[in-house]
Order: sequence, then structure tokens, then C-alpha cells
Amino acid sequence: MDKFKNLRGTFDILPSQLVKWQNIENIIKIQLSRSFVKEIRTPILEMTELFTRGIGENTDVVSKEMYTFKDRGDRSCTLRPEGTASVVRALINNGLSVKPQQKLWYMGPMFRYERPQAGRQRQFHQFGVEFIGYKSYRSDVEIISLAWDILQRLGIKHLNLEINSLGNTNDRKNYQQAFTKFLDKNYSSLDSDSQKRVNKNPMRILDTKNKDTIQILKEAPILVDFLCDESLERYCQIKEQLKFLKIPFEENYKLVRGLDYYTHTAFEITSGALGSQATVCGGGRYDNLIKLMGGNETPAIGFAIGLERLIILAGKEYENDRLVDVYLVSKGSSAENYAIQLTRKLRKLNIITELDTSGTSFSKQFKKANKLNAKSVIVIGEEEATKKEFLIRLFNDQYKENKEKRISFDDDYELVKWLKTNLREDL
Ligand code: ATP
Ligand code: MG
Repeated sequence: MDKFKNLRGTFDILPSQLVKWQNIENIIKIQLSRSFVKEIRTPILEMTELFTRGIGENTDVVSKEMYTFKDRGDRSCTLRPEGTASVVRALINNGLSVKPQQKLWYMGPMFRYERPQAGRQRQFHQFGVEFIGYKSYRSDVEIISLAWDILQRLGIKHLNLEINSLGNTNDRKNYQQAFTKFLDKNYSSLDSDSQKRVNKNPMRILDTKNKDTIQILKEAPILVDFLCDESLERYCQIKEQLKFLKIPFEENYKLVRGLDYYTHTAFEITSGALGSQATVCGGGRYDNLIKLMGGNETPAIGFAIGLERLIILAGKEYENDRLVDVYLVSKGSSAENYAIQLTRKLRKLNIITELDTSGTSFSKQFKKANKLNAKSVIVIGEEEATKKEFLIRLFNDQYKENKEKRISFDDDYELVKWLKTNLREDL
């Protein structure tokens, strides 16, 4: 029979790889809890309309990347391609959008029908943060520094933070008018992808990877020249604060999030080490989205980090698994029963314990302990079982007689003492 294959662009994450994932996720979660950001979990499956409206019909994500299908009730459903729209929906549905301020995070799989390549999958994972109800420029600075500090804490080097301001709705409109005029004038020289965007989503052309179009755009009007005094002041305050915090950044006037509801700050963190899929974090302010989706007018800002790309960037130090503290070797029926009982006791004591249930020869069991790099072994043979005791000893090259100890089954005091002295001071 043919073997089943996973769908293109989806991957298994195997136990050996998951060590790195879990170590990194733990650090992120600790950092978030210190920042008093609370987790929110929303369904992976949503009504399609949430995304067409929440992300925008003319975006790449909605126009060509969504996993959409009809369910048995003939409703159009979509596997979430990003997290923000769902978070906003959840807040509105649960009456939370009227709560003045909330800092939220989410983590989980996202789905986009893209051409699979390095750093681009069809099922991938994002972790994101949303500050809901925050208006001050200081919240922009806080959220940028939050993203930056998480990446720093993970020891990721050579990161570039790029920022831009899209201004308020009016600034954007003015810019878009001028920019569209410029595009119309240069229409015939644009690449065909960009030509298609002129009427649908012109701002996204700023994001083009086409070399000729990039050349033409050098002459294009610049967003920052269209900011009103207030928007410009806001943008300058953010830059000043980032300098004050010694967070290095570059201004990129072409950095846009091509959707109508984005306002003011847009930012991205990239790494040269990622090749052509260089962006690890993308974020921005979306003061108009919550209202657009039927909630109260609520300012907000957020970012999302691609976990696969983060895992590529993070160092080997996160790949180390915890070793087995105790490998339990036993032979003979009553010995094996005692072994299970002792295993449970050790696990209760927070000792990483592996129980050998193979019933094979002691030498074979020791070989397995060796393979696992176990820190210590406990041996229960028939003789030990009769005496109601076990033998515990360190399991390494510098095996010393005096580290070996016989302890009676009921003598928890001696057991803990031995473990504390020889294995785990933290007990
Ligand atoms: P890109 O320019 O790489 O297509 P994007 O603008 O579509 O990025 P966002 O929607 O801002 O990406 O998503 C935030 C982050 O999620 C990205 O910076 C990236 O790290 C990650 N990401 C997005 N799409 C994928 C994908 N198909 N596979 C893996 N990671 C992804
Ligand atoms: Mg994309």
C-alpha cells in the first residue's frame, strides 16, 4: 500500500526538534508574563468573511493565499491566515472591546496557500501581541521594545528594525492620491504585478521586489512628506524614544501595510541570516480596524513573529534536552513491581525518571541507560526485592564506589538526601 504523505507545505515537528521549540516558547512566555500581557486563544477555523473584511479583499493573503472551503452547513470557512482579525472578533463578541485597555498575546498555527520554499510554509506558526485600547505613542515604543527585547533575550544577532509612519487616515489619503498620480504617469514602465495593483491596492506597490519598479519608485513621493503636524510629531517622538532606549532602527519610507485601517506606525524586524524570506517580525498600528469590524472605536497596535523563522535564527544552545535523572533497571517479577512504585515516587519528587520495562538482562538495560546519557541508575534485582531495598548510583565515567548507596524502599529521607547531594541540589 502507498504510504500516506503530509500535505505540501506542512511539516511534522518531531520530538528532537521540539526541544528547541519548547525552550524558545518558554522564554517568550516568561517574557510576556513579566510584561503583564495575557494569553488569548481563538478558534483556528473562522467564517471566511472575517478575513475578507478584517484583512481586506485586495491583499495577497485574502486574494490568493487563503484555505477556504464550505462546511456541511454550506458556510464558507477559512483556516486562519493570521491572528489579529480573530482576536478583534473575540473581543467584540465577548463584549471586551468596551474594556478600556488590554494587552494580549496568542501563539499557534496559521495557514496560507503560498509556494513552499525556505522560510515559507503553508502551515506555519506565529506568536503575536496586541495592545488594545492604547493610543499614546509610548505604547508604540513599548510594543516595539517588547518585540525587540524578546529577540535579544533569545540571543539573536544582526537584526534590523525598520520603522515608518503611515500617518492618520487623512494623511494616507493625501499620499495615496499623489502616489497614484505618480503611478499613472509611469504606468507603462511598471511590472505587470504592480500594474494590477495601481487601482486595487497602490500602496502595496511600495513593497515590490521587482528591480525595475524599485528604480522607478526612487522618484516617487515619500509618505513622511504627507504627514500632518500632529502625525509628524508623533512619529518623531517615537524615533526619539527608540534612540533614548538605544534600540537601533532605520527609517524605511517604503514600509507599508497595504490595508486601509493601518495608521501611523508600521515596523518590521529582519535578519540577513534568513535569506530572501528575511522578515521575522511585522507589526503596526490599526486604529481603525476594531470600528470597521463592528466594535467601538478603539486604537490598537500589534505585531506577529514567525516562529519557524525565529527557530532558524535562534542558537544551538536551545537544542539541549534535559537529561534523564534516574534510569530504573529491574529484573524479576517482584522487583519489576517495586520498580513501578518507585518510579511514581521519583516523578512526584520532580525527578526525571525513565523506567525500563523490557525485562531483559541487566547488561542490556544498562546499555540503554548509557545511550540516554542518564545521570544515575537505580537497580532492583531479586536480591534487592527480597531485602526491600534498591541500589542507586551515579551513571557516568567517573563512577565512584562511594557514590553508590543501598536504600530501603521506605526510607524517603535517605533517598531525597542522596538525590540532593549527588544529582539535583534544587530539590
Ligand atoms: P512575507 O513578506 O514574508 O510574505 P507577510 O507580510 O506576509 O511576510 P505577516 O503577515 O506580516 O507576513 O506575518 C508576520 C510573520 O509571519 C512574517 O514576518 C513571517 O515571519 C511569518 N510568516 C508569514 N507567512 C509565512 C509563511 N508562509 N511561512 C512561514 N512564516 C511566515
Ligand atoms: Mg506573505
